[in-house]
Amino acid sequence: MDHYSKERTLVIIKPDGVQRSLIGEIIKRYEQSGLKAIAIKMILPSEDLIERHYSVDPDFKKKVGAKAIESYKTKGETPPSNDPEVVGDSVVKRLKNYMTCSPVVAMIWQGAHAVELVRKATGGTEPRTSDVGTIRGDYVLDSYSMADSDGRAIRNLIHASGNPEEAEKEIPLWFEDKEIMQYRLVQESILYDVNLDGLLE
Ligand code: ADP
Ligand code: MG
Repeated sequence: MDHYSKERTLVIIKPDGVQRSLIGEIIKRYEQSGLKAIAIKMILPSEDLIERHYSVDPDFKKKVGAKAIESYKTKGETPPSNDPEVVGDSVVKRLKNYMTCSPVVAMIWQGAHAVELVRKATGGTEPRTSDVGTIRGDYVLDSYSMADSDGRAIRNLIHASGNPEEAEKEIPLWFEDKEIMQYRLVQESILYDVNLDGLLE
């Protein structure tokens, strides 16, 4: 296994993040956690790329549907359908519209527990219930029920890979090897060096 410090995650600032002028704020949150940006670019994704991106996990539709149904039930509300596949199917269609309406910023962040830390800072899928202090909790107000009643995807500013295996499958869809930087940040010494020698004069 690679050292912890080599874990990578894919982050996409979605069209609403770009349009809300939150690029800097979002990057700041990940940057200040100690993670290292190793690739950043602005692109206008095609529907085909979005389809491939959300097909990396073959169970995506089922999972996303089940999560939505669960969220309705927790609130004592009735989901639009009780079949996760039906809900998941419409989510993918709506995501294609949402994710291709304006440029996005795609990034790779690297460091110990990168996937988990980015998801923690990002917050839960539904901004209505994501924690205060997370990016989604602090900067956006969307909900399953509003998105469903308006027939669109939930606008939640960011995509962040769900686990390290998924990250490694998503990254090549968005970046060529030559776009990914291999370099050392001086701060990595204080984050990862075992003995911390050489600091005192
Ligand atoms: P996350 O982005 O938090 O990992 P998922 O992977 O479950 O969430 O879903 C991918 C994206 O699809 C979400 O970020 C959101 O934009 C959208 N989405 C998920 N569930 C729904 C839903 N029930 N209705 C509309 N959009 C949804
Ligand atoms: Mg996801």
